[in-house]
Amino acid sequence: MIKLKKPKIVILGAGYGGLLTTVRLQKHLGVNEADIVLVNKNSYHYETTWLHEASAGTLHHDKVRYNIENVIDRNKVDFIQGSVVEINKDEKKVILENGEITYDYLVIALGGEPETFGIKGLKEYAFGITNVNSSRQLREHIEYQFATYNMEEEKDDTRLAIVVGGAGFTGIEFLGELTNRVPELCREYDIDASKVRIICVEAAPTALPGFDPELVNYAVSQLERRGVEFLIGTAIKEATPTGILVAKGDEEPREIKAGTVVWAAGVRGNSIIEKSGFEAMRGRVKVQPDLRMPGFDNVFVIGDCSLIINEEINRPYPPTAQIAMQQGEVVAHNLAALIRNKPQLETFKFDNKGTVCSLGEDDAIGVVFGKKLTGTKASFMKKVVDNRALYMIGGASLVMKKGKFNFI
Ligand SMILES: Cc1cc2nc3c(=O)[nH]c(=O)nc-3n(C[C@H](O)[C@H](O)[C@H](O)COP(=O)(O)OP(=O)(O)OC[C@H]3O[C@@H](n4cnc5c(N)ncnc54)[C@H](O)[C@@H]3O)c2cc1C
Repeated sequence: MIKLKKPKIVILGAGYGGLLTTVRLQKHLGVNEADIVLVNKNSYHYETTWLHEASAGTLHHDKVRYNIENVIDRNKVDFIQGSVVEINKDEKKVILENGEITYDYLVIALGGEPETFGIKGLKEYAFGITNVNSSRQLREHIEYQFATYNMEEEKDDTRLAIVVGGAGFTGIEFLGELTNRVPELCREYDIDASKVRIICVEAAPTALPGFDPELVNYAVSQLERRGVEFLIGTAIKEATPTGILVAKGDEEPREIKAGTVVWAAGVRGNSIIEKSGFEAMRGRVKVQPDLRMPGFDNVFVIGDCSLIINEEINRPYPPTAQIAMQQGEVVAHNLAALIRNKPQLETFKFDNKGTVCSLGEDDAIGVVFGKKLTGTKASFMKKVVDNRALYMIGGASLVMKKGKFNFI
């Protein structure tokens, strides 16, 4: 009997998009239909949308991650822990740091990277909220500044200043956590809370651009009440070893000294996209409606590496976990169709279920199914959304292990 070669599907990245594609594919396809290979840098998946908590130190980093092998079916999926270096599209090959893999079908779900827009010094001196490693480093750095303050004979209050670049989603959520964490740090290290400054610098004319103005006002006033200083319409011109230079319009740049500078103002697609010679805008590939890369019928791109236009406003959708997961569902369906030689592929259509932005442990703002929410109600919804992401990938048992149940 001749044994037919099974098609090989390689999925790059085990974030929201890649892992959801994998768990759906393992459900849709039988063992004999395809070889499925999942490649990820780490042995674990992390909840990118919870990294602001790990970065501020309000949630331990082990709470935001879980082992990939716990949610995949090892009879159907081979997991390779490895770092992707480049994709060779002509030879249908993925180059890893420690080897290479060929593919028949490829799913690129490698997530995003900070976009620094060429601002001098940001790469060298600013911290990012990007993955478990960067979050752990940021948390440790802030704690180190507090621990060092009372060790010095001549006290340097700027050591206790924290600048957050960007009042978008990530910046605002991180500020919310900081306002919970700083009082704890002050108590732990015997520091007068009035010595601490938390400054948010945003170049756009408003915080949370694109969000409902009433909810933005709520968020800003809540954070201001807890001590955050907002510099809106102000651009960071440079990061230095001692802080940042900022300017409003054509003003001369002025210095804000700070022991910690965090850049939370921009996301681009993974640089591997450009390195591999794919056409992209800031590392994001404008995909076809079936989520394939134009010109490559066997390559799908999802999550932060993909770009989809919101036809209503003729602008790209901002990259979110919500979109990445919905894309994962469609890609799994489309791969199963291709493998079974079914000609009709599904078209991706974003189903916006709403957005919730946390403002710390028990406060948030959000629009859910068209309804505006603030305070504890919104915070409850945020935890429901977080638990739902766990449920979609690992079912009830993952929710029980990693879920958030501090609803009050
Ligand atoms: C603090 C914060 C809060 C957010 N809050 C929300 C929110 O409330 N709601 C929302 O919808 N979105 C939110 N987002 C955005 C959301 O997290 C991203 O849009 C989403 O994670 C994108 O999913 P993805 O699958 O493309 O990538 P990711 O989930 O980031 O996963 C990418 C995976 O690829 C792996 N990887 C990267 N490079 C390599 C490589 N070279 N080799 C191998 N593996 C690699 C990574 O380790 C990771 O596992 C937030 C983002 C941040 C930072």
